[in-house]
Amino acid sequence: MAKQRFHALAMLSQHQLAPFKRPDAPISSYFGSLVFDKKNMRQWMAADDAGQLESIMERGGKMDHTLADAVAQALKSWALSYGVTHYTHWFHPLRGTTAEKHDTFFELKQGQAIEQFKGSALVQQEPDASSFPSGGLRSTFEARGYTAWDPTSPAFIYETALAKTLCIPTVFVAYTGEALDHKAPLLKALDTINRAATRVCQIFDKQVKYVTASLGVEQEYFLVDRNLYLARPDLVMCGRTVFGHSPARGQQLSDHYFGSIPRRVSNFMVEFETEAQRLGIPVRTRHNEVAPGQFEVAPQFEEANLAVDHNMLLMDVMERIAEKHQFKILFHEKPFKGINGSGKHNNWSLITDGGKNLLSPSGKPKDNLVFLTFLVSTIKAVYAYSDLLRASIASAANDLRLGAHEAPPAIISVFLGQQLTRFIEALENSKSLNLEKGDNVYLKLGISKLPEILLDNTDRNRTSPFAFTGNKFEFRAVGSTGICSSPMTVLNVAVADVLDQLANEVEAKLAQGVKREVAVIEALRRMLKESKSILFEGDNYGEAWLKEAQKRGLSNVQTTPEALKQMNSAKAKDLFERHGIFSRAELEARTQILVEEYVLKVQIEARIAGDLAQNHVIPTAIKYQHQLVQHLKGLKELELDDETTFEAARNLGEHIQACQRKNKAMLQARKEANQLEDPLEKAKAYEGIRSMIEDIRYHVDKLELLVDDEDWPLPKYRELLFLR
Ligand code: ADP
Ligand code: MG
Repeated sequence: MAKQRFHALAMLSQHQLAPFKRPDAPISSYFGSLVFDKKNMRQWMAADDAGQLESIMERGGKMDHTLADAVAQALKSWALSYGVTHYTHWFHPLRGTTAEKHDTFFELKQGQAIEQFKGSALVQQEPDASSFPSGGLRSTFEARGYTAWDPTSPAFIYETALAKTLCIPTVFVAYTGEALDHKAPLLKALDTINRAATRVCQIFDKQVKYVTASLGVEQEYFLVDRNLYLARPDLVMCGRTVFGHSPARGQQLSDHYFGSIPRRVSNFMVEFETEAQRLGIPVRTRHNEVAPGQFEVAPQFEEANLAVDHNMLLMDVMERIAEKHQFKILFHEKPFKGINGSGKHNNWSLITDGGKNLLSPSGKPKDNLVFLTFLVSTIKAVYAYSDLLRASIASAANDLRLGAHEAPPAIISVFLGQQLTRFIEALENSKSLNLEKGDNVYLKLGISKLPEILLDNTDRNRTSPFAFTGNKFEFRAVGSTGICSSPMTVLNVAVADVLDQLANEVEAKLAQGVKREVAVIEALRRMLKESKSILFEGDNYGEAWLKEAQKRGLSNVQTTPEALKQMNSAKAKDLFERHGIFSRAELEARTQILVEEYVLKVQIEARIAGDLAQNHVIPTAIKYQHQLVQHLKGLKELELDDETTFEAARNLGEHIQACQRKNKAMLQARKEANQLEDPLEKAKAYEGIRSMIEDIRYHVDKLELLVDDEDWPLPKYRELLFLR
């Protein structure tokens, strides 16, 4: 093993930059060239058909066979012009990132070789569903699942090695109609928020026809040298290190953003960004992160469904291009203990068909009442459904990140910023409501300063899991690996639920002749009173907040099994069923898949930790101890003493034994856990096994400090994090 480590280190010094030539043209000239976008639609389809398809893409609607055939024909011609041979229905199964099965356009028709693509093949496919997890929704003997085209996310051409494939974004549903993927519920949630938000908008402005949720995804990641990565079985098998002593230099010196980016990394960035831009992913921002070896990419925000697809595609592109540059990209939430983890901040807002951002304060008092309505509704939604939001970001990996090193804690709270907090307090507390003088209602509320409020981005709190950042909310607790459909589904449904209640209340009052402003402000006040314990402006990382949150009755759910319990609660079932997102059976099935996934992940970690300790670390330590013993024996022959070496040999022995003992205990605990029938109980047992891995780690990391560096089998943190 040590051989592999030193080979990797030797290779590193000979590394040559991968060749890549950036297009000699502005980004706008090639942006989206691999996407069947509006421009291509108009070029490859009859004007009528293109118009119909555009309208379906923007506002939804049914597609008939004739149109589907026309679209398929156009897609085929367009794709063939790029040398594409295959097409695939591209979807997000419940486990893993994306899935696809490739078919070719080519077929033999009465002995004639032709290229064919029919509307029916575009609209629906039947992949073998049996190998995807369904949580018992679909037993294998009737393993029928369908993928169905999602025309709101455009088709694109994906090129890997020699293959050129037309990818058609789809949803994946069971033969019985239940969703088997992440996209179907998200689309339903986006529809729900559209209806609820439009209804509330229409209280103020009848012109508003629809509202879309916007999402901007900041993606954090680590890069490690690929050869070093291959010499770390833990990274290969579980995406994170289970052992590794912290380096002499951690992130103390790099605690600033925007440091200069190493050349090899920068080349990688330019290449994946170029490919992403061709695929229509509007990547804009790149920078170093605080931790060594950590970086971030952020595209411009888009409609939420498209943003989610683009994030999944982007991760895929990054992974592939990283390999070309001899890197391994780590999306894991916590690849290195003691070093910052990676998140996927979800910047979210609501935007009307007229382009108005509902979470942006404006210069006009009247508009600011709309802003306040959506702001307070979001606060209320986070308060009422914080446990579901927590559950929506739960994973074995994110458990290691939340609440540690520069990551928000598992306590969900909302940050507003000073100005807005003062403003909200005024709204809640001022007493009289006098509408007689028209606009004076704002004065009486002490919110006469409405026009000046905010748009002050300097007021940031990077410690908050859910922060208002001037014209959007930033859900920062979302982990870097996960697919953001899950938090986006929960957030949008939660907010929609609150908006519906608000609309009911206000509409009833309006019917009684109450003035609109009065009705709205009264409702907002009540909502604020109910939910203000979720507001927190201070340091979310501090000890004080843990205590304060407990006093406020906010939950602090540390682990995934505990968080997932909430997904199956009566409250969750009621919410999702009421809005037609998940049936009870679907919710149960999903939770079961997530619970199983937790168990599988920790199981792999435990196996790898056991294997590395037993077969790599302990033999190395014993060998080294043996050398020390020989050395001590030699000294003794010369009647010389060496206290420190003697001490070291003994120390080694103690850690070796402890490692062995604890590994044995972990093996036993795993055997017992595996006997448990109930998935949740099993997951709980695996929670305990995780802490046993940590126990073993303590000794392994001590051994790393004691054993001769020449013999140590695993690339060390300093090598993984600092060498490029
Ligand atoms: P920071 O790191 O300072 O939080 P970034 O520039 O890295 O900010 O990312 C901010 C993200 O928020 C970008 O993806 C941006 O497009 C997105 N964003 C901006 N406005 C909105 C909005 N109205 N709705 C959703 N996302 C938005
Ligand atoms: Mg950022």
